[in-house]
Amino acid sequence: MKRIAVAQIQQESNTFNPRATEKADFAEYGWAIGEEVMRLYGATDELAGFSHLPEVLGEPVEWVGLVRAKELAGGPIADAVVDEIVTRIQRTLHAGPVDGVLLSLHGALASPTIPDVDGHILEKVREVIGPGIPLVATLDLHANITCTMIQAADVLVGYHTFPHIDHESCGRRATRALENLIRHGPTHHVSAIKIPQIVNAKGFATTGELMQSLYERLQRAEVCDGVLSASLFMAQPWLDVPDLGWTLYQAYRGEHAPLDEEAIADECWSKREFNARSLPNPESIVSEALQSPLAPFAVSEGHDATNSGAPGDSTRLLAAMLKTSWPGAGALTYCIDANAVQQAYSAGQGATLRLLVGGSR
Ligand SMILES: [Zn+2]
Repeated sequence: MKRIAVAQIQQESNTFNPRATEKADFAEYGWAIGEEVMRLYGATDELAGFSHLPEVLGEPVEWVGLVRAKELAGGPIADAVVDEIVTRIQRTLHAGPVDGVLLSLHGALASPTIPDVDGHILEKVREVIGPGIPLVATLDLHANITCTMIQAADVLVGYHTFPHIDHESCGRRATRALENLIRHGPTHHVSAIKIPQIVNAKGFATTGELMQSLYERLQRAEVCDGVLSASLFMAQPWLDVPDLGWTLYQAYRGEHAPLDEEAIADECWSKREFNARSLPNPESIVSEALQSPLAPFAVSEGHDATNSGAPGDSTRLLAAMLKTSWPGAGALTYCIDANAVQQAYSAGQGATLRLLVGGSR
């Protein structure tokens, strides 16, 4: 029976959001330690993929749960939370030897003082397990890959879909890489090329004309014999950290990487101007909405999107709407402001009140 350490630490950090992400924010999505990691979350996303390891290895697995801390997107993770996670991971790994480590990470996790928390965690794991124990990590396709991550992990495996629908199969692909490393040792090659570009994520879906054929080639490359990972990471743009950019990453046995990295890098570079257009300002959106014969008129306020880690309390669109009269029309807007909600509850149903809204986060 193999003893395999497992952890999930995920958040897409938006370094433009001044509000730090605390332990309580992670707790809303489920914070687990020790055996709870697989018992409570072993049927979800990447961990569900990891749970196929016994059948891939052909023998039972004893899971050594480290930490499960997941949050979707938000301001940088507080340094104290990083310290707590790393301390727990190292303490658990020191308690007994393991045959391998599987980590489910995002790859765009930053703290106020550590721009590459994923690399930091991988380094801290490697520090305890030493060079001979296989360490495989899964990452979101919007990860920003660093040299620290590449050097600390044996293999990095990225999602192959955006919108992301392959969390479980990505976890399963990681078990295939880990099985290969356990059987044959870490004698594989890794090649990675940084493509110095960031793009507006819109239009870069892997099911769209722009990226589909490229991601299909990555998928075909990875199922070839001896290939442990063929991943392209289109770094998310709300991350102001050193060396931000796309990365093609390949891990393989044999003499040659499955894909020609220079050719793929050129192909990615040729797509960088796609969708590079100026976005409308709130005033022009309001006048367009009022003139439109169609209703309702929906606006995606991308600059303050909470699913990209923004605070969600901008009043820019609201301010533009208040400058105009709306005869016979109305608007439903979105703004996170717990204090304003509390005041509305206190005023009671049917009451009218004046209050300040927004900008509180
Ligand atoms: Zn993503």
